[in-house]
Amino acid sequence: MEPFVFRNPTKLIFGQGQTNELANEMKVHGAKVLLIYGGGSIKRNGLYDRVITQLQEANKQVFELAGVEPNPRLTTVQKGIEICKKEEIDFILAVGGGSVIDATKAISAGAKYDGDIWDIIIKENEAKDALPFGTILTLAATGSEMNSGSVITNWETQQKVGWGSPFVFPTFSILDPVNTVSVPEDQTIYGIVDMMSHVLEAYFHHTRNTPLQDRICESILLTVVEAAPKLLQNLEDLDLRETILYCGTMALNGITQMGLRGDWGSHNIEHAISAVYDIPHAGGLAIIFPHWLKISIDERLERHVQLATRVFGVNPEGKTDKEIALEGIEKLSAFWTSLGAPNRLADYDIDSSNIKKMAAIAGERGAFGNFKSLETKDVEKLLNAAL
Ligand code: NAP
Ligand code: FE
Repeated sequence: MEPFVFRNPTKLIFGQGQTNELANEMKVHGAKVLLIYGGGSIKRNGLYDRVITQLQEANKQVFELAGVEPNPRLTTVQKGIEICKKEEIDFILAVGGGSVIDATKAISAGAKYDGDIWDIIIKENEAKDALPFGTILTLAATGSEMNSGSVITNWETQQKVGWGSPFVFPTFSILDPVNTVSVPEDQTIYGIVDMMSHVLEAYFHHTRNTPLQDRICESILLTVVEAAPKLLQNLEDLDLRETILYCGTMALNGITQMGLRGDWGSHNIEHAISAVYDIPHAGGLAIIFPHWLKISIDERLERHVQLATRVFGVNPEGKTDKEIALEGIEKLSAFWTSLGAPNRLADYDIDSSNIKKMAAIAGERGAFGNFKSLETKDVEKLLNAAL
């Protein structure tokens, strides 16, 4: 293990019916609240009305920013910052999935910054402060509800950039599985692929002696592999929604990565794809990750073997380590396909025409990936294999 310091200040309010805790939780926060949400799913499933009722009960003056898009855009973030500054907002409440929460993080940092928030996102400057915000998560996927990361797309320059700051941990996050029951099948599948990808990013590292981190990662993966097919058979099963919701948060709240540095190259490649094609984040990951596993197989073969045998039940008898590892990758890929996830770029009508462009975007800041270092030419090869 490497030495580490762990701090996660987000108050997690988890469980069926916990949405009712909102009014109570809001009491200690200021009077002017900016409510941020997406394209309207919270209006259709009734959550919007419940939130407004509770904000009224807590005597808040409510302002709104609606229409945060999946793969949230810089222009929307800038709109939110303007509202915060003009109306002197005290507290932000994000109600939605990772996109709404990620946009909220950028808005909360931007509200306390005099320049253009894009400077902070591309790391030309650092956030020194942020408006406090809470979240009500409606989609199990990103872990954004309990971490300090955010991903914002600048559509004009075709850049999708991940950034983070200790100032943008949510103050509280309410995770009520009831609010995830209306998530449609495709977004449920994407969420499952995203959380598994977060665990896999953490699992592939060069740090020695990480037995507990390995078992934590494997537990999350095993739990998802067991629950996901059942959930897709019955999207209204609250216990299964609850299990998947918990897995999504545990997959990226820092616990899997204590004392080690995961790879994160597949996420970087996916961001380049969705910066050009605006496809769902985890749709891209489902296509990319098995290819990434194949090209990283010789980096530390023993980790691939461990994943294959412990999580995907590959029987090692009579097989070489490489055969075991490859069978594990096939099983992962087959699992995602069985859920209904895409497995080729062609599934999104992406052909070879923009491969060079996407590879250049992925590699624009030089070689990347902590486990397997990749350059533009490697990304080109990987994307061609994924066509
Ligand atoms: P999302 O983009 O927030 O939402 C996807 C879709 O699901 C939206 O159309 C949304 O509709 C709908 N939806 C959400 N909750 C729903 C509900 N309860 N019922 C019905 N529909 C619902 O999806 P996401 O996967 O959570 O977030 C993806 C973004 O997060 C990407 O930009 C990705 O790059 C980023 N990401 C962030 C992190 C991080 O740690 N910060 C990690 C991985 C990925 P409405 O808009 O109408 O609500
Ligand atoms: Fe992700």
